[in-house]
Amino acid sequence: MINKTKIVATMGPASTPPDILEAMIKAGVNICRINFSHGSYDDVKNAITTIRSLNKKLNTHVGILADLQGPKLRIGEVENNAVELIVDNTITITTKEHIGTKEKIYITYPQFPKDVAVGDNVLIDDGKILLKVLSTNRSDEVKAKIIYGGILSSKKGVNLPNTKISLPCLTEKDLKDLDFALENEVEWIGLSFVRSVTDILDLKEIIKSKNKRARVIAKIEKPEAISEIDNIIDMADGIMVARGDLGVELPMEQVPMIQKMLVTKCISASKPVIIATQMMESMITNFSPTRAEVNDVANAVMDGADAVMLSGETSVGKYPVKVIENMSKIVAQVESLGAIYYREHPPILKTQTFISDSICFNACLVAKQAGASAIVSMTNSGYTAFKISSHRPKANIYIFTDNESLLTSLSLVWGVKGFYYNRYESTDQTISDIKDLLRSSGFVKTDDLVINIASIPMHERGRTNMLKLSYIS
Ligand code: PEP
Repeated sequence: MINKTKIVATMGPASTPPDILEAMIKAGVNICRINFSHGSYDDVKNAITTIRSLNKKLNTHVGILADLQGPKLRIGEVENNAVELIVDNTITITTKEHIGTKEKIYITYPQFPKDVAVGDNVLIDDGKILLKVLSTNRSDEVKAKIIYGGILSSKKGVNLPNTKISLPCLTEKDLKDLDFALENEVEWIGLSFVRSVTDILDLKEIIKSKNKRARVIAKIEKPEAISEIDNIIDMADGIMVARGDLGVELPMEQVPMIQKMLVTKCISASKPVIIATQMMESMITNFSPTRAEVNDVANAVMDGADAVMLSGETSVGKYPVKVIENMSKIVAQVESLGAIYYREHPPILKTQTFISDSICFNACLVAKQAGASAIVSMTNSGYTAFKISSHRPKANIYIFTDNESLLTSLSLVWGVKGFYYNRYESTDQTISDIKDLLRSSGFVKTDDLVINIASIPMHERGRTNMLKLSYIS
């Protein structure tokens, strides 16, 4: 059995040693996330080289998600890396570089005094500290009252849930990181703090201008993105429910239902969706997760997410292999019970893609009705892989392609298992060849019913327009 729900693991010092990453891949990692908020280019290059050489060694297609930091706001250094902010005191937030004290801290956001208004909330360190704006000189200083205080250490993140932030979605750092990621041919680019569909369009324009084919994941962590969510899902190639920042930018109690809403919308739009942050947080230091974390992962799988993601658990945690083993076990258990399958959504008539959409939809219906063991497709663009997956069939989805970078991209997509294949002859010959290959490698067995979908005539390499049912002999 191969798990259908994929696992994304964030790379870091705990997971880049090759022997550890090899064990993580064997335990179920499908995508490695490189978080450009941390680490040097040397670290990133080292991680990419390790992932790619392990793919060769293990014959796997682990893909890479390069996650751009975006306009993440931070405070600067503070005295002795710890100052205490005391409730009801007033604090000055300056845009001029300054070592922070309990009276004055520096923020890395030059337009801050212009963008905020009196009464706006300023949340620091994932919302652990709350300030309320009392006044702004609209130039370089803001005064705020400390509502919830605590110990503040250097470079903590800042969220401004009520403020319209005028920074661009792609900062100078992001543009440099993007160049680096594209030069290294990563499959997926994560865009942080997306506020509007134009943020995605801008990024896609840059990727295209550099002649690259990386796909874009819109990280949903701002209320503005929720207001424009249909357009964002439409334009992005996938979505990440970035629950860490989302739960600070919006009341945290809204996040569970937003997660469910985003998964449902992404399934209907055939776009992969990742559930991220604090899934197994306690395993950063403990060798087993809390029962609530087990439930959280299980619920994400039941919602129908394409992937569940680990952050600190695998980047800096003490148990990077164990956490993958635990996550894989939870995924396998939920998937064995059957409630997550069959989310078919009929194709829309009179669209350009109607014929292939209809073939994918009907392949899933027939697979359900006949108890087929596999749906097998050949694709160059990957379109049918995304489409079949979106119907969440119980049958295995085997995708054959001669497009190497597609294979690693598809590692994020629910249920899809990719194979490299470049011997396109006739439709009959290729289908028979692929069936032999699947049987000899143990993915199907004699008497299994399989559904092949393809494009005929094969040499034209057009859209999928054919469906064939047959038994494995
Ligand atoms: C999040 O906020 O949940 C998230 C995934 O973002 P980051 O890139 O900061 O980890």
